[in-house]
Amino acid sequence: MKLTSLDYARSLDQKDELSNLQEEFYLQEDIIYMDGNSLGLLSKRAEGKLLDLLHSWKTFGIDGWTEGDHPWFYLSESVGEKMAPLVGGLKNEVIATGSTTTNLHQLAATFYKPSGHKTKILADELNFPSDIYALKSQLALKGYDPEEHLVRVKSREGRFLAEDDIIEAMTDDIALIVLPSVLYRSGQILDMKRLTAAANERGIPIGFDLCHSVGAIEHSLHDWGADFAFWCTYKHLNGGPGSVGGLFVHEKNFGNVPGLSGWFGSKKESQFDMDHQMDPALDAGAFQIGTPHVLSLAPIIGALELFEEVGIKRVREKSLQLTNYLMELIRIELDGEGFTIGSPVDETRGGHILLEHKEAARICSALKEVGVIPDFRAPNGVRLAPVALYNSFEDVWHTVQKLKNIMDEKRYEKFENKRGVVA
Ligand SMILES: *Cc1c(COP(=O)(O)O)cnc(C)c1O
Repeated sequence: MKLTSLDYARSLDQKDELSNLQEEFYLQEDIIYMDGNSLGLLSKRAEGKLLDLLHSWKTFGIDGWTEGDHPWFYLSESVGEKMAPLVGGLKNEVIATGSTTTNLHQLAATFYKPSGHKTKILADELNFPSDIYALKSQLALKGYDPEEHLVRVKSREGRFLAEDDIIEAMTDDIALIVLPSVLYRSGQILDMKRLTAAANERGIPIGFDLCHSVGAIEHSLHDWGADFAFWCTYKHLNGGPGSVGGLFVHEKNFGNVPGLSGWFGSKKESQFDMDHQMDPALDAGAFQIGTPHVLSLAPIIGALELFEEVGIKRVREKSLQLTNYLMELIRIELDGEGFTIGSPVDETRGGHILLEHKEAARICSALKEVGVIPDFRAPNGVRLAPVALYNSFEDVWHTVQKLKNIMDEKRYEKFENKRGVVA
């Protein structure tokens, strides 16, 4: 059977143990969704849990905080516990709270303790803008010039970071390190274990942004000894638009006073004593601030059930097969069309593939027109994420065929080479 044939794609689907999970999700007919790394799709379980929690509001009113199958007062902790295996944390090292950016603010406010000549924060030049904005404002709040005190490790060719370069930048004047686990454009996975060991050796707190890795790859944050991590749940975890984020604080750091305090960071049993002297929780719960966004936590409960049943290991295995197949087809079918694969071809890639092309924005418009949902990243990136839980090998095959057809017929030319408001 030829690798480029539809029959070959179908034979891969037949062997796929996760193929039945597609039925768990709401997939639109005739649409191939390749954007699960920006917003994962709704599953029936996630919908069910949202309806359950609406129902608990309807039936219990205020008593929903302690009644029902998912009492709201303990929801951040229980969802945190369920996320812990996905990041390799102990149960009480993980809490569901805030958003990626607000959690970074909390963790930087906690772990960035400049003193003497140790005043700088180390990040990288390929980092997600929101993280950079947050770090700059944390520097400014402490009275430091962000331009001078935020050190950004350079990439070697605009796509990838070299761990050697990052470690070399862990100098005496660095007070905090914040890095992505998977780069949002190229999908490169940084060697978190190695970077953490180097930071630990130098006594510099280190934390990771797991937005593009949680639900896509395995992690061992506790064993590696990472100080902290934070992530969103609406990408690979399929928690829904604006779903509550997550954070990890290593148990070695329990007892650290949260930089930004609020009553939901209290010990559960004393929170409602209403004392003006805060009694912080002795685990990751301490880093919560205010009342949990219960209705934005609800879908995550259902979404996580699927990961619990399948296990992240199998998700990762299928994801690697899907992206490998995608790259193979691209190399054969789109040869000479001006595309460059901007992701690592080895297993240091996360869950998506970056295709670079100078007409990327209008190619994305043309893909949407023929029913493939990609993701454009300025200036020249088409991100394609075949997701293990709901995409098939046949989806990948059709995506490449449609892309080939768009290029052969120059169907992208009728669109402007310009991004939409959200892209
Ligand atoms: C998606 C993403 C964010 C988004 O942050 P929010 O606070 O959830 O809006 C931040 N950082 C990275 C790396 C991301 O991929």
